[in-house]
This record gives sequence, C-alpha cells and structure tokens, in this order.
Amino acid sequence: MKPRQVVIHVHLSDAAISRDEAGTAHVEETRSILSTEQVREWCANTDTAVTIKPVIDLDAHHHTDAYAVPDRLTEQARLAQPVCAFPWCERPARRCDTDHVAAHGDGGPTCSCNLAPLCRRHHRA
Ligand SMILES: [Zn+2]
Repeated sequence: MKPRQVVIHVHLSDAAISRDEAGTAHVEETRSILSTEQVREWCANTDTAVTIKPVIDLDAHHHTDAYAVPDRLTEQARLAQPVCAFPWCERPARRCDTDHVAAHGDGGPTCSCNLAPLCRRHHRA
C-alpha cells in the first residue's frame, strides 16, 4: 500500500538539525511547537519521503515587472507574514492570496515590500 502523502511545513534552524541538542521547531497550520528530536525521527523514518526546501532570506528584496506574483515572492510573503495581513484575521497565509498592498494598477510594484497575504474575503473587500 502506498503511504499517505502529508506536507508539513516545519521551521527550524540548520544548527538545530545537525547538532545533537534540544531545540524547538514550529509547524505551520497548527502553529504547534515540537522538539527537534521529533523532526529528526520523522526525517530518519525510511517510510517517510522528506523534501527540504531552500532557505529563503526574508530580508532579501525581489522584484519583477510582471503583475503575476512569482512563487518565490509568494513564499517569502507567507513566511514573513504567516496569517492574513488584515487586522485580527487568523487565516493561515498558505490559504491566502498574495496581494499587492499598493495596487499594481496604481503603480504598485510586484516586489518583496509591496506584497502581503490576504484571505479571499479580505482581498475582495
Ligand atoms: Zn483575512
């Protein structure tokens, strides 16, 4: 039987993985905290296919002339702002649109400092 496919976005430092010391990681969606030991066990499990995504520098500035937001900019916006940018909205950024804060039609650029996750409801509002 094919194993269940699960995607978990875990955030932890390289030092926390490579060194044998206690640390914590946090999981998106549930926003739970877990131990680096737990993450190490998942990665060592031969039944588990682990995909390591490249580290994204949240301070880097990326820009494109296009209206469409490239994947790396969407990912950067989601990591910098893990929930909908609308005040008090708790919608996880991974289930949000990536919005131009200053509208593209009004000259707002498609760049790191002008993008934020907005849930569909707040994007339409
Ligand atoms: Zn929202």
